[in-house]
Amino acid sequence: MIHRRLLELAGAVSGAIAGVAALGLLLSGLHIAFAMAIAAAVAAIVSGGPGVVGSVAVLGAVAAARALVVWVRDTTAARLGASVRVRLRARLLTRAVGISATDRDSGRIAAIAIDGVDGLEAYFTRYLPQLIVVLVVPATVVALTVGRDPTAGVALGIAAAVAVIAPRAWDARLLRTGRERWERFTRLSSDFVESLEHIPLLRIFGATARAADRLSAEGDALRRDTMGQLRLSLVETAVSALAMHLGAAAAVIFATLAVSGGDGDGAAAVAVLLLARECFRPVQDLGACWHAGYLGLSAVDGLDELQRSSSTAPRMGGRPRPAPTGLLEFEGVSFTYPATGRGVRDVRLRVEAAETLAVIGPSGAGKSTLARLVERDIDPDAGIIRIGGVDIRDFDRVALSASVAVVPQDPVLFAWSVRDNLRLCRPSAADAEVEQAARVADVHDVIAGLPEGYDTVLSENGGQLSGGQRQRLAIARALLSPAPVLILDEATSALDAESERRIVDAVATAAAGWRTVVVITHRASTGARADHWVAIEDGRVAARGRGPVPTSRGAVLR
Ligand code: ATP
Repeated sequence: MIHRRLLELAGAVSGAIAGVAALGLLLSGLHIAFAMAIAAAVAAIVSGGPGVVGSVAVLGAVAAARALVVWVRDTTAARLGASVRVRLRARLLTRAVGISATDRDSGRIAAIAIDGVDGLEAYFTRYLPQLIVVLVVPATVVALTVGRDPTAGVALGIAAAVAVIAPRAWDARLLRTGRERWERFTRLSSDFVESLEHIPLLRIFGATARAADRLSAEGDALRRDTMGQLRLSLVETAVSALAMHLGAAAAVIFATLAVSGGDGDGAAAVAVLLLARECFRPVQDLGACWHAGYLGLSAVDGLDELQRSSSTAPRMGGRPRPAPTGLLEFEGVSFTYPATGRGVRDVRLRVEAAETLAVIGPSGAGKSTLARLVERDIDPDAGIIRIGGVDIRDFDRVALSASVAVVPQDPVLFAWSVRDNLRLCRPSAADAEVEQAARVADVHDVIAGLPEGYDTVLSENGGQLSGGQRQRLAIARALLSPAPVLILDEATSALDAESERRIVDAVATAAAGWRTVVVITHRASTGARADHWVAIEDGRVAARGRGPVPTSRGAVLR
């Protein structure tokens, strides 16, 4: 089956595909030469002529050459496969990084990048080259056979055409069922990843058995879909096989009839018998290649979808230099989440470089949306955000991350050493700087208490740490960033009020004179060091003032 989208993708490796196809053609040529050599040897033996030794020598040489070509073709295909996998996965990863967090589905992306790409590799390295072989070899063999026995040649030609063309009648249906199956497969993959990530939560609510039942029901449905598709695919193979068997039998019968009627010789009949085998061998191999590659074919929609979803991510600018200062401005910024119709409206803010701003407001008011807008996870529908006087849409990805660091409420830690996690924003940070950042974030003692201190490798997402310890590590990590704007988005919410105040104080002290700090919080006490504050309500700036957050504003925060 040919798919337009896959052919476009194949363009990137068309040279290698043509190379594997050329080796396939050479191999088919050797198969045919081997068949002819056998026919010649049989004729020599039957006639008792002197050519027997020569024919056997030719047979040996062709067999050796065949083994060599198989080895070269398989190693070339393996190299092509590795290159296809690397290119496709790199391309998908670039797209996945660009997808805004709201649209990202890790389980689905993993299914496309792992199983889909594996299937596509088989499509490119086996199916497409074999398709080229099928377009050339049967026609050549038919021509050779016609030269020996025209009737047998015509029978072979008709059978070969039916064997190649008839299965195409099932293509549309196969593609449709393949899509349905792939949908189910990615959904299962997505649910599986989600359940794995939240096993503790499922356990707490006694829901592990229910989740397992759900996954097993989905797995069963997937098995039924897979079997259905396999059955359909086998019907296609059976039709093709029937045409090939009937064609070979007809060709041999015609050749034998010609011999018995006195119109042909025995050697020609043997040659027809062997050529019939070589005529259909590529078609049979194509069937096997199809079964290896059809999973990838059904993944093509997911692949396409992933490529399309890249457009949801904001497009980065070309400015490589980070913001010159931490002056942060929101000028009439509005954003609405299409799914809920909620967001922020006409937000106007100005935080001078090196000032600290506290952002307060009730849950769902739109505070985190402001942070997401500054890190360009989403872009405003209207208005402009500037850092250091530069429209943030002008920065390239590296310059933006060197201009603003955001610490979210639920930070992600990697299964790397603590030191490597902390150096995420600045890999060149010296050990002393790493330790200093950890001290400011009040997490140095926690790290020192780990079995190998800063070299302790964390479990997935820092599973061996408490929520508050994870948050403090994330703050230390952001402190190492050179960005002149630091946003703490309820980054200390898991700490008690006293620890939270202490850390925010330490962060403000470390930032004094050079870094702008925005503290998004529910607690008035967290904003005690702020130079000014804004209260967000229902997506709008409802109140603002200079100095720390007044305690009278406590009511707003609940
Ligand atoms: P909290 O203090 O509870 O974290 P918040 O003030 O930070 O709340 P936001 O997260 O900014 O609130 O959300 C503002 C509004 O936008 C909420 O009403 C929420 O339902 C909606 N919202 C947030 N994220 C999304 C999203 N990904 N898709 C659709 N709507 C969203």
